[in-house]
Amino acid sequence: MLGAIIVLLIRGLIWGFATQAIIENKGYSENWFWWGFFFGIIAMLVALSKPAVPAYDFSDIGLFSEEKNKTYVRSMVETGGWQCHFCNRANPSYTGTCACGRTKEDTLAFEAAKIEQMKKAECKNSEEDSLDKIKKLKELLDIGALTQEEFDEKKKEFLL
Ligand SMILES: [Zn+2]
Repeated sequence: MLGAIIVLLIRGLIWGFATQAIIENKGYSENWFWWGFFFGIIAMLVALSKPAVPAYDFSDIGLFSEEKNKTYVRSMVETGGWQCHFCNRANPSYTGTCACGRTKEDTLAFEAAKIEQMKKAECKNSEEDSLDKIKKLKELLDIGALTQEEFDEKKKEFLL
């Protein structure tokens, strides 16, 4: 009797772990251990029949843990893949069009535009900076703290 229970337990554990391994392999972050434990081969067959989670960024809907997703995106990028900038899905290198309909070129163009924008913003900031400084110099000149020569010299510096 005791022997039979132990055999059942061990069998349950094996089915449980096997079913769980299959479900994780397919990209699900669900716990299927107890399904496998109690239903054995039936649970395993159900797990086997489930579609694999497609290789996207699923962290937002909770199918992948955030950590697993990060690792996934990294491995994808390291093997020549790319991450879509419109939906954040990771795509393998052989995929030219993301599931959201944007192409790899869209993402590259988007990135280029973003960098361009950042550069422009930086330029504008430094221009405003120089203007501010020149205004302050002008004030110093007006109150006589700077000579005209000193002012001209400094002004040239900031306009470079
Ligand atoms: Zn996308």
